[in-house]
Order: sequence, then C-alpha cells, then structure tokens
Amino acid sequence: ISRARLDRFVSEKCNISRRDVRLFVAQKRIIIDGEPASDISVIIDKFSKIVLDNKVLQNNTPCYVMLHKPTGVVSATKDKQHKTVIDLLTIQEKDQLHIVGRLDLNTSGLVLLTNDSRWSERITSPDKKVKKRYLVTLKNPLTDDYISAFESGMYFPFENITTQPATLRILSDHIAQVELTEGRYHQIKRMFGRFRNPVIGLHRESIGNLALDDSLLSGQSRYLTSLEVEKVF
Ligand code: URA
Repeated sequence: ISRARLDRFVSEKCNISRRDVRLFVAQKRIIIDGEPASDISVIIDKFSKIVLDNKVLQNNTPCYVMLHKPTGVVSATKDKQHKTVIDLLTIQEKDQLHIVGRLDLNTSGLVLLTNDSRWSERITSPDKKVKKRYLVTLKNPLTDDYISAFESGMYFPFENITTQPATLRILSDHIAQVELTEGRYHQIKRMFGRFRNPVIGLHRESIGNLALDDSLLSGQSRYLTSLEVEKVF
C-alpha cells in the first residue's frame, strides 16, 4: 500500500472485520510507529510501522539509490534480452525498487531508484519542474539557432504536446548541455532531430540539485544520504 486507513489495512492484512479492528484499537493493541493507535480512521502509509500484539504487520524502510548507468543496460526491472539497472545493484532491497525517470538503452549517467513513490512522483511530475541535465554529443556542429528553438519549445504531433522551455548551452562545436523539466519519449534525440543532427552520445549529469557522484564508475551505485534525498528538489 502507499496510503490507507488503518482499519482497512489491518482488516485486509489479518482477514478480520473492521469491528474487530475498532476493538483492538480501543484495547491499545495496535501500535503505529511505537505509539498505540488513537483512531481506526488514521491514514497510514507504506513506511508506517504497524504492530498488532507482538506481530509486525508492516515494517518498510525507505530506500534511495543512485546508479551510474552504463550504455547497453535497460531502464526496466525485467528484460529478456538485456541486463537491467536492477541487475547491476547488489543491495538486498533491490527487488522492491522502481526507477525514477528512465534513460534510453544507449544513454548513460544518473539513474535514481527508490521504493518511495511519493518521492519519485515529485521528481518526475512535469508540474514540479525538477531539472534534469544532460551532456549531449552531436554528429554535426551546433549553431546558436538551437538555443532559441529549445527555449521556445517544439510541437510533437504524435503526442500533441509542446515541449516545456529547455535550456541549451553550447560547450563546444559538437557538445551541448541541455536542461529539461520533463522526460518525453526520446525527447532529446527528437529535439535535435528537428535540426537533422543525430545524437551520438547522451549522458545524464544531474537530477534537480543532485549530481552523479564522480567517484561512481560506470555500473556502480550507492545509497543516497538523507541530505541528498531532501536536496533533489
Ligand atoms: N532524451 C532522450 O532522447 N533519451 C534519454 O535517455 C533521455 C532524454
């Protein structure tokens, strides 16, 4: 569950009636995060620790990981053909994690993984405008025209959307830094496609205020610190 009323959660988990749950609450037999539950209607979430008598009904710990994704690895939890980002992790929680904003097979760089869907939704929601920064290597030289085209947005008839303003900085003839606040399907490749300029290298450098840790080699991962979990936004 992500969020539910206490009586619903306990009755489903223990296969008992909500009336029984009401009784247990009155008898102070249900403990939420160390305190007896005060009401059957309190809203609990995935990370509330719930104990009935001495039986633990739920005890999840939030988990946040950053991965330096190599190219050739797929942003999925299961795949028949390719190694997945989950396959690269060694931690015990790995099978409970989901990917916060996928990268294409041939894109490298920062990938975040978590079991906390409220956190991941805040990062991926286009309304929240969390910036994702990419280093892009192009086949053909860049020109200043690109900057205004990325800033104005591009219309994609297939999805019937116009891209949000994006910042493009020209770092050298063939290398640009691009900041997006959304992640449409193959967005960067398709935006450069408007200039008939193929992307030959794509690497995500940061998500919000969180940059890929330089000390992580391609394929390596580590837990985020609690400071980093907060600082993304
Ligand atoms: N844009 C793309 O085209 N691919 C990615 O992986 C990310 C952004």
